[in-house]
Amino acid sequence: EGFWRLSKLGVTVQNDPGKDFLGVSDPLLQEIAKVLEFPVASMLPPEAFSVVRKSFDARKVLKEPKFVYTVDMDVSKLLDLEPRTWDFISRLEPKVGFVEHMPCEKASGDLITVIHDCKKVSNDTLLSEDISSGSEGSYKYPRIRKPKIAVVGSGPSGLFASLVLAELGADVTLIERGQAVEQRGRDIGALIVRRILENESNFCFGEGGAGTWSDGKLVTRIGRNSDSVVAVMNTLVHFGAPKKILVDGKPHLGTDRLIPLLRNFRQHLQRLGVTIKFGTRVDDLLIEDARVVGVKVSNSMDQLQSDFQKLGFDAVILAVGHSARDIYQMLLSRNVNMVPKDFAVGLRIEHPQELINSIQYSGLAAEVNKGRGKVPVADYKVVKYVSGEDEDTLSNVVAARRSCYSFCMCPGGQVVLTSTNPSELCINGMSFSRRSSRWANAALVVTASTKDFDAFNLHGPLAGIEFQREFERRAAVMGGGNFVAPVQKVTDFLENKLSATPLPSSSYRLGVKSANLHELFPTHITDALKHSISMFDEELPGFISEAALLHGVETRTSSPVQIPRSSDTYESTCLKGLYPVGEGAGYAGGIVSAAVDGMYAGFGVAKDFDLFLGNI
Ligand code: FAD
Repeated sequence: EGFWRLSKLGVTVQNDPGKDFLGVSDPLLQEIAKVLEFPVASMLPPEAFSVVRKSFDARKVLKEPKFVYTVDMDVSKLLDLEPRTWDFISRLEPKVGFVEHMPCEKASGDLITVIHDCKKVSNDTLLSEDISSGSEGSYKYPRIRKPKIAVVGSGPSGLFASLVLAELGADVTLIERGQAVEQRGRDIGALIVRRILENESNFCFGEGGAGTWSDGKLVTRIGRNSDSVVAVMNTLVHFGAPKKILVDGKPHLGTDRLIPLLRNFRQHLQRLGVTIKFGTRVDDLLIEDARVVGVKVSNSMDQLQSDFQKLGFDAVILAVGHSARDIYQMLLSRNVNMVPKDFAVGLRIEHPQELINSIQYSGLAAEVNKGRGKVPVADYKVVKYVSGEDEDTLSNVVAARRSCYSFCMCPGGQVVLTSTNPSELCINGMSFSRRSSRWANAALVVTASTKDFDAFNLHGPLAGIEFQREFERRAAVMGGGNFVAPVQKVTDFLENKLSATPLPSSSYRLGVKSANLHELFPTHITDALKHSISMFDEELPGFISEAALLHGVETRTSSPVQIPRSSDTYESTCLKGLYPVGEGAGYAGGIVSAAVDGMYAGFGVAKDFDLFLGNI
C-alpha cells in the first residue's frame, strides 16, 4: 500500500542523460536497484518509479560531480511482478535517509483544482445531508452580496490572494500602480535604451511585481515539499510554467517564461470576474469607526493626482512589496503599527560566467562554456559570519556578529536598475530562461539591524527605509547621474583603491563608473564585506579575481519593516479590515514565499467573511 520514497540516488554526469531529462534512465534504475538491494535492475519496471527531485551536485567533497535523484516507487505498479520479486519488495525495510515509506500519496493539485475539488465534495455532502434531513441547506441561499475585496499590488502575494478569493466567490478588485506586462516591457525597454525611468512602471512596479523581470528563481527556505509550496508550484505550472520546476532541485523560470505565465494568470482572474485596474495607485485608506472601508486611488500616470477616486470595499489586502515607500509613509500617518526589521545591504558582484563554471566544475567547465553541456551553468551560494573581533573598530554596532552572504545569484544573467526614483540608485539581477549571458552576478550583503539605524541617528518604524535611501542616494551621486552605477574591481575594493580603466566588462546596460565603494557604507559594513569576500575566496578559489566587478548598491534585499497582523486571519492587529501581506509587510522574501503568504491571506480573509471553505 502507498509508495516508497528513495533518496540520494547519484548518477554520474557521464551516465546521466543530462539536466533536461526527468524520466527514469537505465543508470538510474541501477541505482534504485542498489538502494533496494534488488539483484537484477532490469527486472524492475521503470513505470513504477517517478522522479520527484533532480539536482546537480558538484561539491568538491565528492569524487566526481553527480545528478542526485529522489524517486517515488508506486507499490501498486509492482503487483504484476513474479512472486519472488514481489516477496522481496514486500519485505522492504526503511533505511534512514535513503528509503522511506509514505503511507498514501499526498494531494498535489494546483490551487484551482484543489479549491474546485473541495467545493464539489462539500457541495455534494451538503446536498445529500439536506435531502435526507429535509432541511434547507445554505447552498440554497446564496449570499445577498458577495464581499468586496480590494487587493493592492499584483506581485506574487497579490495575485495568489486574488486567485483564492475569486475562486471562493468574492468580488475582487486587483489594483496595480504599474502597467500590464506588455506596456511594462516597453517602459523597461525605454529605461534601458533611452534612460527614461517611469516612476510607476519599472523593474519593481507593474504586473507580476518585483519578480517579473528577474531570474525567476523558485527556491524557497519555507520547505520545498510543504503542501503550500507544492500548491503554488502546481499553480504556476497550470499557468504555463514548465513541469520541470516541480522536479528540478533549483527551479527557475527566467523573465521570458514569466511574462506569458502572468498573462495567463491575468486572463484566468478576469474569467473569474476579477476587475483589474492597472495604472491605478492607492494613495490612502478610507477609515470609518476604526475600520478600513475602502481606498483612495489615483491615476498613477497623473503626476498631479487631480483625478482621485474613492472606492468602497469590505476589506483591503495590502500586497504592495517593499519598494512602495509612499505606502509606509501613509500607514504611519494613519497610525498603523509598524516595526523596523533587520535586513541586509551590500554590493552586487559580477564575474564572467566562464570563471564561475571553472571554479565550480573544474573538468566539466569546458563543455558548459560551449553552451551545450549536460549540466546547468554553475551558480554559488556562500554564507559566512563575521564577528566584532574580525573588524577594525570596537563600537557596539561593529561588535555585533553579522552574517555576510551571497544572495539572489543570477548565473548567465545581467545586473539591472531597480530604482523607483531618479535620485536614488539601487540594483539587482535578472536572467532569461536559458541563462546564456556571459556574466554571473550575485548580491554580497551584510545584515543590518536597528543598531545600525541608530548609529545613523535614524529612529522610528521607518528608520530602515531611510537607511536604504541614504546609500541609494550616495550611489546615484557616486555614479555621476543618469543611472550610471559606481563600480570597483574586487581586488581594488580589498585594497581600498580606485580602479583604473579599462574596467572589466559589465552586463549593466546603463553604464558604470569607477568609484571607491569604501565611501558608500560605514566602515564596519565595508569591513564586514571585505572579510567575507576573503572568506568566500577560500571556499571558491578564484572568486577574488581581476575580472570581478563590484557594483553599488544593493539595498532592497527584503523589507526593512514589518506590519503586525493576526497569525490566524492575517488582519492587521491595529486596524480592522486591513490585511498586510507579502514581502512589503515583512512576511516573505522571494517569489514563492510571497505567493504562499498571499494564498494563506486569501484563505484568512475568506474565513473572516465566511466564504465557502469546505474541507480546504
Ligand atoms: P512585489 O512583487 O513587490 O509586488 C508589489 C506590487 O504592488 C508591485 O507590482 C507594485 O507595483 C504594486 N504596488 C505598490 N504600491 C502600490 C500602490 N500604492 N497602489 C497599487 N499598487 C501598488 N525573488 C525570487 O524568489 N527569485 C528571484 O529570482 C528573484 N529575483 C529578483 C530580481 C529582481 C530584479 C527583483 C527586484 C526582485 C527579485 N526577487 C526574486 C524578489 C521577488 O521579486 C519578491 O520577493 C517578490 O516579488 C515579492 O512579492 P510581493 O507580492 O510581496 O511584492
